[in-house]
Amino acid sequence: MSHFFADLLFDGERWAASQYFHVDEGGMFRNIPAALVNPQIKSNSVHLGVVIPGFINCHSHSFQRAMAGLGERITGSHSNDSFWTWREQMYRLAHWFQPKDLRVITDWLYLEMLESGYTSVGEFHYLHKKSSGQSYHDPCEMAQQIIDSARESQIRLCLLPAFYQKAAINQELHPRQFPFGMNTLSEYQKYHQILSKRIPPGFNLGVAIHSIRAVEQTQLKEFSLEYGMQSLPIHIHIAEQTAEVEESLQCYGKRPVEFLLDNIEVNSLWTLVHATHITPEERKGLAQSRASVGICPITEANLGDGIFPMKDFLSDDGNIAVGSDSHIRIDPFEELRWIEYSQRYQSGNRACLSNEKTPSPGQLLASKTYQGGQQSLMLNTGFLKDGFFADFLVLDKEHPSMLRLNPATLWDEIVFAGSRELVQSVYTGGKQIVYEGRHSLRNEKLESLRKLFRSPDFPSL
Ligand SMILES: [Zn+2]
Repeated sequence: MSHFFADLLFDGERWAASQYFHVDEGGMFRNIPAALVNPQIKSNSVHLGVVIPGFINCHSHSFQRAMAGLGERITGSHSNDSFWTWREQMYRLAHWFQPKDLRVITDWLYLEMLESGYTSVGEFHYLHKKSSGQSYHDPCEMAQQIIDSARESQIRLCLLPAFYQKAAINQELHPRQFPFGMNTLSEYQKYHQILSKRIPPGFNLGVAIHSIRAVEQTQLKEFSLEYGMQSLPIHIHIAEQTAEVEESLQCYGKRPVEFLLDNIEVNSLWTLVHATHITPEERKGLAQSRASVGICPITEANLGDGIFPMKDFLSDDGNIAVGSDSHIRIDPFEELRWIEYSQRYQSGNRACLSNEKTPSPGQLLASKTYQGGQQSLMLNTGFLKDGFFADFLVLDKEHPSMLRLNPATLWDEIVFAGSRELVQSVYTGGKQIVYEGRHSLRNEKLESLRKLFRSPDFPSL
């Protein structure tokens, strides 16, 4: 049994000074109350400095890490670059990916996530098939690469295989979307059943619907009923772009969030990713449903999506989780910072995401996203309390942004003046996997990444 001592420990809600804890055989966190600290515990404890829970990344498409920085210019005959032109580039990349390539990029991505402070990830996986649309010999071949990457890097995974049936409302899949497609709900159900036998302990398997556009209305209802009854995490992309809202209005007479709230029993099992374009009524309904909004600030800025009304949503007591989505950058500190900064750009005010109880926006964002991330992926993580996995980070207390160690301002110093370079050590299930900011597999995985990126047939996007 390992004992630890933290100068300062954030348990997911508040700071505590001079905290002893241990990790049991199952990798779970156990607090040691001050009254029970004896000389033996004191002498055997590893001294850690500043300890916070590992961040929870609620939304990832791992293969997209391979195009970071490649989709930033006007291409072909387009006069404007937009989400939709970026999407064409992403399709070209998706067509090229073989299982072995997916393994290399996911290995690297998960390693990078751990080094930057994410200890859990929700993988919204839709790259299921060959570019022809045929299944692999093992229909779960691609998903298996993701499970294997997560196991090897030791990031905690909630796999969210996506049901992706249509190109848009009432439109068949285009050949460029063939690797994503599943024709029927029963095909998806069989696939999900195979996967459910392959999920290791401590990981989770949820479900995802690519978007309301990509699934037939009747199937969407059936899907939600079935998996809602199984109490699995259910994720969906929603209202990321205004064109999606217009399409939904045209075909269903309702906006995407409105359509979902009116037709499906949306509850705390649900995560609505990029609920960017919503009306005040949709926002209030969403907060009341207790679903989480999966917000991906760096990606949403990069793709020109728009700004989610976060200040109002938090005033409504809505749940939020944070994700890195397209992985243009991997830095949870930066993601949190941009949630607040986007509100400042819009309002001309500062400290937008704070309240009387929590005047620090840094601390409010951290607490809300730990809680929302835990809910979104249904993993026992995000809190350093009894009953949760010992997934934690040790931050560099000698970093200039940390020197004051004042709990009243520390989260603001971390979020607004810090970045992933603050992360010194990372533990998942109480086991150390990042030392001095470096994952133990870094050299090996970087070499494989180098070969992938320099491969002569890597597609030009
Ligand atoms: Zn996404």
